[in-house]
Amino acid sequence: MDDRVVLAIKLNNAASNDPCELCGRRTDPEVGPELFLDGSWALVCYECGEKYAPELMGLLLDYRRSRSFEEFLDNPS
Ligand SMILES: [Zn+2]
Repeated sequence: MDDRVVLAIKLNNAASNDPCELCGRRTDPEVGPELFLDGSWALVCYECGEKYAPELMGLLLDYRRSRSFEEFLDNPS
């Protein structure tokens, strides 16, 4: 596989269920920051994100974690 895969975090404002552009696996995108192939709107799954752009993946997961923590603070069950 081409090792010059460049990924980007972009705001996904139309949650579709497109398969991962790189491996064809199902993705489960959320509206908000998601991983895409740089220069396109082709979704990339988190496994491929981990493989090709672990730093971006880390940012995305940190964002998810802090957001769910805020939701937890808003709605303690
Ligand atoms: Zn993938």
